[in-house]
Amino acid sequence: MIRYEDFESAIGLNWYEVDPNLQQLMHRLLKPADLEWCEPELRRIGALIGGPIAARAEVTDKNPPRLVKFDRSGEQVDEIVHHPGAVATKRDVWESGIAGPRLRREAARRGRHYPELMATALNFMLSQAETGMLCATGMTSGVLALVRRFAPPEVRDELLAKLTAERFDEAWDGAMFMTERSGGSDLSTLTTVARRDGDRWLLNGSKWFCSNVDAGAIATLARPEGAPQGLRGVALFLVPRWRSDGTRNAIVVRRLKDKLGTRAVPTAEADFVDAEAYLLAGERADAPAALDGRGINRMMEMVNSSRHGVAVMGLGIMRRSFLESAIFAAHRAAFGRRLEELPMMRQTLVEMVVELEAAAALVFAAGGEGALARLLVPLAKLRATRGGLRLASQAVEVHGGNGYIEDWPVARQLRDAQCHTIWEGTENIICLDVMRALRDEQVLDAAFGALGARTGDGVAMLDRSRERLLRAQGEIREALMFLSRAERDLAQLRARAFANYLADAVEAALLLEEAEWEMEHRGNARKALIAHLYVQSHLANDAPLRGICSADRATLELFEPLTRYGEVSPARAQTLIAQAP
Ligand SMILES: Cc1cc2nc3c(=O)[nH]c(=O)nc-3n(C[C@H](O)[C@H](O)[C@H](O)COP(=O)(O)OP(=O)(O)OC[C@H]3O[C@@H](n4cnc5c(N)ncnc54)[C@H](O)[C@@H]3O)c2cc1C
Repeated sequence: MIRYEDFESAIGLNWYEVDPNLQQLMHRLLKPADLEWCEPELRRIGALIGGPIAARAEVTDKNPPRLVKFDRSGEQVDEIVHHPGAVATKRDVWESGIAGPRLRREAARRGRHYPELMATALNFMLSQAETGMLCATGMTSGVLALVRRFAPPEVRDELLAKLTAERFDEAWDGAMFMTERSGGSDLSTLTTVARRDGDRWLLNGSKWFCSNVDAGAIATLARPEGAPQGLRGVALFLVPRWRSDGTRNAIVVRRLKDKLGTRAVPTAEADFVDAEAYLLAGERADAPAALDGRGINRMMEMVNSSRHGVAVMGLGIMRRSFLESAIFAAHRAAFGRRLEELPMMRQTLVEMVVELEAAAALVFAAGGEGALARLLVPLAKLRATRGGLRLASQAVEVHGGNGYIEDWPVARQLRDAQCHTIWEGTENIICLDVMRALRDEQVLDAAFGALGARTGDGVAMLDRSRERLLRAQGEIREALMFLSRAERDLAQLRARAFANYLADAVEAALLLEEAEWEMEHRGNARKALIAHLYVQSHLANDAPLRGICSADRATLELFEPLTRYGEVSPARAQTLIAQAP
């Protein structure tokens, strides 16, 4: 079992070794041949992230990037100056293989497959240190995907070489400037204009939220001259920071945003003033291609992957909040007992670990290469980002007054967490996206079919949880039928309740599946308890007297194996589950 009392702090630990649930996800989901090479890398990078990267994150937060408008001769330079610690982390992130091409290339050289879950695991650990760094690397992979698919042939190879350079000093970051002052959820009113000038495109307009503003390659949306109003008139462009002649492109950084959190990444307001750009529309880059009305669709093709990145950020905050809380509660005493011995504190920590594992199950399932990703990604973004906020807030309270003070490690997590419910689609927009993914009602049946099929009926102690899940699935089908026929405003009014109910059912199914795997492969009923507790709190609203008078003592008696990842014998689990209301 993990011995939290032996740790001074989460910083300095190996974040792969100290996370048995992450290890189990990797062992369960990766093919043995992939696991064989991935696990040593996860250990190596777990030490790097839990060590120097986590330590520097605290310093970067207090020393965020600065904008230098002019050089000493009065030339306008609009340069972003990062703290040396932040630069060291960016270099480590790129050259260690957390981001950047290193691990993928090494895998290819040795004839090995690079599983996408590896990227999820690495990003998950990075997010526990600093979600702002993942914002930068996530946008770089997003821009890379757009360039691969849509850059004009004459510049594609050069851009790809920069976005995938092995050495950090030669590599270009990516960014995406979409949001304008008029709004980010609804991009139909955007006013940035693209003009054809000989064989070049020139962009003029203002962007209101520009994270990673000093990136080398910026994906953006603009309306070509002569294009209609609305989303159909929008085209997708790539603005390089430097023109091909080596001069600085015309991107004016007006100011950096004074942000609540995610301070590692500079977010700015920026203007394009006759900025040179490449049309991202495939082979042709002329005016008719820009007017094909598909710019927004091209952009949206990669929205699912960037939304998954934000889900991973939320999950990282959930994990860090839990780990810091478990360590603090193992050290601090009140009323003659360590905090972790106090019943309500046990309840809080168990609730945190149950929510963490449920969200992890969903985020890792959504990061797979399967057909369900279109539905699972928005659900994962919905749950893990809200979960990040909730657990960060709980972690602050576990730390008492200290938690509210910036010397301690959880106040920043709470500030950072608030960004992720907004970034890449606010919670409301994500709920509407869940409804969109279910426009074809068969998607829901396919999802339940796939998840249900993986949940066998092997573990008898989970029968009641399985029954509750089946009942929920039936209700969700009925609700979807109702909403798909309801008048538009009523359907939107219920979208959030629906998406959350669906997420409850999906997380429950995934946990039940994990529980069965753990029983079969490890003879351990710990995850069965986690699944049971999850179903109780999310899918069982029929407990008499809200369960207050029940004899259920699982949280008190199994606190240690639940929060320290120990063994629970099936017989013990069975007895405790039977006491539940
Ligand atoms: C730190 C930070 C960094 C960012 N970085 C970038 C970046 O790099 N690039 C970029 O393009 N953008 C970036 N953004 C902007 C972000 O994507 C937008 O803030 C977000 O999409 C919401 O847009 P908005 O702020 O204009 O809010 P609005 O779209 O005005 O929304 C305001 C509120 O209305 C709600 N709302 C809107 N439509 C509906 C609806 N149909 N039904 C119900 N409710 C609705 C929203 O949920 C929200 O609560 C960043 C934001 C932050 C905070």
